[in-house]
Amino acid sequence: MHRNTDIKHLERSISLADEAVKEGNHPFGAVLVSEAGDVLLEGKNNFSFDRGPGHAETNLARAAARKFDVETLNKATLYTSVEPCSMCAGTIYWAEIGAVVFGMTEHRLGELTGEDPENQTQDLECRVIFNSGRRPVEVRGPFPELEEKIAAQHQAYWKT
Ligand SMILES: [Zn+2]
Repeated sequence: MHRNTDIKHLERSISLADEAVKEGNHPFGAVLVSEAGDVLLEGKNNFSFDRGPGHAETNLARAAARKFDVETLNKATLYTSVEPCSMCAGTIYWAEIGAVVFGMTEHRLGELTGEDPENQTQDLECRVIFNSGRRPVEVRGPFPELEEKIAAQHQAYWKT
């Protein structure tokens, strides 16, 4: 039922990841969408400034927590091209965002980043983190129809 909307916002997160690369950062982007379907905020990786912790989803969740009330955040969905890592899932949880949609798994990302020292990818399903919490976070993903596009973006970037 969500599928077409999910794909539309995931496509935007993929475009933001391209923008991040043009700005000298890593290929990750994220979009926060309200219950009504409006884009509330967008986020990009900012490795060149924040180094390792400069992930798109963490940047977006922190900015959203400053800007919106908890009710809005509880009903919002964060879209990200790649499954959130432990830090990002934690920040999304603490920001009280209600749902997460991702395109490609972190496991697949780890195959693509290989031994690149700038992205020592973990291998942990974000559902493990969300399921350990005291409040529910809905998760949808991966989306196989987008995986090749996202994988190509990372294949082109990382020095494996
Ligand atoms: Zn992350």
